[in-house]
Amino acid sequence: MKTIQAKVGKLTIGSGSPIVVQTMCNTHTGDIEATLEQSRRMHGAGAEIIRITCPGLQDVPHLKEIRERLRAEGIDTPLVADIHFSSETAIAVAPFVEKVRINPGNFHKDHEEARRQFARLVQVCKEHGTAIRIGINHGSLGERIVSLWGNTPEAMAKAAMEWLDMCEEASFYNVVVSLKSSNTVVMVQAYRALAAMMQEKGRVFPLHVGVTEAGNGDSGRIKSCVGISALLQEGIGNTIRVSLTEDPVNEIPVARYLADRYDGKLFSSMTALSIEGRRAVATYDSPSREKLLLDVSCDFGKRLLDRDLDEVQIRGFYRDEKGEPVSIESSGLGEYLSDELMQAARRRFYKPEYIACPGCGRTMYDLQGAFEAVKARTSHLKDTVIAVMGCIVNGPGEMADADWGYVGEGGHKVTIYKGKTALLRHITDTEAVDRLVELIESSNAE
Ligand code: SF4
Repeated sequence: MKTIQAKVGKLTIGSGSPIVVQTMCNTHTGDIEATLEQSRRMHGAGAEIIRITCPGLQDVPHLKEIRERLRAEGIDTPLVADIHFSSETAIAVAPFVEKVRINPGNFHKDHEEARRQFARLVQVCKEHGTAIRIGINHGSLGERIVSLWGNTPEAMAKAAMEWLDMCEEASFYNVVVSLKSSNTVVMVQAYRALAAMMQEKGRVFPLHVGVTEAGNGDSGRIKSCVGISALLQEGIGNTIRVSLTEDPVNEIPVARYLADRYDGKLFSSMTALSIEGRRAVATYDSPSREKLLLDVSCDFGKRLLDRDLDEVQIRGFYRDEKGEPVSIESSGLGEYLSDELMQAARRRFYKPEYIACPGCGRTMYDLQGAFEAVKARTSHLKDTVIAVMGCIVNGPGEMADADWGYVGEGGHKVTIYKGKTALLRHITDTEAVDRLVELIESSNAE
């Protein structure tokens, strides 16, 4: 899809440019040494843009120092300041980074005031050559948007269009847009709706594409690839982030795979495909389990999401670490991948659906450890959506359609949510998983 181009430091995002791979630090921004160390590792792994959270004005000098020290080391990767709520922080940090990521709808409850604050930020960004990402998340659509258009993918797109119109009025085009959701169907519908709305207006801004709170491990990778690849196949998406609740460096090979595949530099290891009705059989010869997993997610994600297929059987071989062929059928991997694909495309749920944010500088506890503990104790709770979120400020708002939420507060305290309601506040982390499981089981028994 033809888009205008945004300049983010040395990079160009948009039509004609390769898909840009990005990730985000999960260190505390005030811990400058840890953030520098992680940024160096990200750069070494191939991250083309690095995002760093900027929770408040006190973090602006930290970001400035991090950027200066990276530049002194010869690392000129563009940095993005991640802002929640505070337009003052966005305005203060804009001169010192290549891009700011905001959700302007969260700047102020009063829409007119939010518009005034956004206009000030646009002015500062224009003066300093700083780009803006308008980042709308399904979980945190404002009351006004929901009352106007509902809690829908179209509402996300319309919310973005309001801010893009303001950018156009200000002749500011250094803008990238994202519409994220942990639900692959919602996320794909939202981006498609926005792409259509922008095309109709005759001005298409570049899109940052990702599945938010995708979790970790195989499921996080498959869910991310299903959602992102469905859009990239349609030419929607100019920069991508794969969000994993892991060391963020692990996100980069998955994102690199997606970028290379849809830039035409890499191909699937599928060797044959037969389709009868809405059932596909694919026979693979893959160089590794990891490549097989990414290949099948991209080969079938869109077809499952769009209900062109109802079932996929995966056959053939992948190579183990010694290069020996392993049968996909007899190892049980084929059936497992088929189940995971169906769940990622939200066609059939064979296990609980987990939502987990990747964590960021706002996380005050061992998010990755807590997520593993919750998964280990809840695997029997099929047909339940369980969120594990990294901070009490944004976590509850971001966990969208979760049935249950485990939200770390810091100081070894956890709050457990049922839907959007906090059921147990400030319980200690040593008992939190037990209490969560008890609550879910007793609720299911009612
Ligand atoms: S919900 Fe997770 S990713 Fe979002 S701000 Fe909180 S810790 Fe960071």
